[in-house]
This record gives sequence, structure tokens and C-alpha cells, in this order.
Amino acid sequence: MERIDFIRNLSLLTIAGCTMKANALGKLVDAFPLSSKMPVLFLGHGNPMNAIEDNEFVQSFKKLGQDLETPKAILCISAHWETKGTKITAMEMPRTIHDFGGFPQALFDVQYPAKGSPELAKQTKDLISKTEIELDHEWGLDHGAWTVIKHLYPEANIPVIQMSLDYSQAPQYHYELAQELDTLRNHGVLIIGSGNIVHNLRKIAWDKVKDPFAWDWAEEANEKMKSLILSGNHKDLIHYTKQGEAFLQSVPTAEHYLPLLYTLGLKNEKETIQLFNDQIIGGSLSMLSLKVG
Ligand code: ZN
Repeated sequence: MERIDFIRNLSLLTIAGCTMKANALGKLVDAFPLSSKMPVLFLGHGNPMNAIEDNEFVQSFKKLGQDLETPKAILCISAHWETKGTKITAMEMPRTIHDFGGFPQALFDVQYPAKGSPELAKQTKDLISKTEIELDHEWGLDHGAWTVIKHLYPEANIPVIQMSLDYSQAPQYHYELAQELDTLRNHGVLIIGSGNIVHNLRKIAWDKVKDPFAWDWAEEANEKMKSLILSGNHKDLIHYTKQGEAFLQSVPTAEHYLPLLYTLGLKNEKETIQLFNDQIIGGSLSMLSLKVG
């Protein structure tokens, strides 16, 4: 191809890309009118039993739900949905998934009957240019989503969709993918990352599983992460594997940490961050949660 043709074709492609994005935005406005900018959350979900227990963490989630402007819909990125490629749930009625074992029947009996939003799923897919999103009709709401959203919106009257974590991608990818979701915040969509910044179940002190207790390395990583979060040093948080032994012990696998990068990727420079539930339990599980904006 002649160089001039190549450049012309490239421009046409760019224009086509912009037009597609503009069309996607137009449709988003139809279904989800402009709103004041919604905050973004990272929620430390911890033990699934939080779904049916009453404790200080649950109290904070309940208060948060009461204080926030009511969203039109929720998009949740949960530690418990890992896939090859990125998927978004697009069913009318997502099932409540009890993706755990060894808990009392009362926890398996919980249903969280929030609707889905096929419309929001499709609009979100159209907004994203970084990767091809697959609309999913099989998943539902896993416990990373429903055990916390249940306390924010106990009436299950806000539609919820989930976006999966592509396990084949590096942290930087997740951070950048999050940035493509920014527009949703202006259309009444509450974006929630759900995980735990320090999460090492092999090192849990089972005799203190519900008590405030931290191993030294967990405390060290938690403090350093907080300081990086508050100072806006996202680069070091993205490159968490290079932050030393305490980080490596605290984040032995990526899935509970990555939802934090979605929340931070969506933070605008001027926005403030509120930390809450800043407590480590069982030695190696940080419940730290964030409200951005
Ligand atoms: Zn979890």
C-alpha cells in the first residue's frame, strides 16, 4: 500500500472508531440520562458470612448505601469472576451464586434478587475499545458482589451487572480498562470493585478469624498501600509485585487485589478518597474499603 493510502485508511479507521463511540454515548444517554458524577467504591468483602452477620464492617456498608445518591444501576468488578477475556453479565435476572463451601445453610439460603440490565451491559461493551467484550448469559451475582451490595441496597431494587477479570492480563491492563468506564459515572452508574487488598487465606490465623489481628507483613503492606492510595502513587500500586516481601505475602494471587486498580483507574485527579473499614482480621485479611469522589 502506498504511504498516502495507508494514512488515509488510518484516518478513516479513526473516524469510524470515534463515530462508534459517539453512537454508543448517544444510546447510553437514552437509557441512562446524565446525572451528577457518581462516586466509585472499592469494598473489602472478606468473609462471606458478612452477608448474614451484623458487625462494624456491615454497619459501614449500610451507612454508605444510605448516604450515597441512589444509582440507576451498579457495575461490579468482583474478585470471584475470573475469565479468559473480559465478559459482562447481560441477563435480565442474574442468579445468586453461592460460590463457596463449608458455611451454614442460612448463608446458602440467601437470595439477592436484583435485576440485571442487558441494556447497560450492551452500552458498556460499546464504550470499551481496549478489548472485545463478550456479553455473558451464564454467570450471575457471585458472593464478591451480593454479600456487600446486599447491605448497600437491601431491597435489591437497583439493577446490577458484573464485569469479569481477565486473568491473562497484567495489572496495567486492568487499570487502563477501568478508565474507559469513566463515562458511566456521569449516567448514574455506581461502579464497585470488590476484593481485599491484603488477602492470604493460607496464612489466616483461624483462631482469630473474626478478630482485629495482623501479621507484621500484612500490617506493613496495608499501611504502605494506604499511603500509596492517598498520595496518588498508582504506579507503585500497579507494580505491586515489585514492592517487596510484605506485598508478595499479602497479595499471593492477583484476583482480590485487581478490583482496587479498577477503582483507582477511575479516580480523577481532583477527587478525594475516603477510607473506611481499615482493619485487618485473622492476621492476613484487610477489610480496607474506599470511596472515591
Ligand atoms: Zn473473596
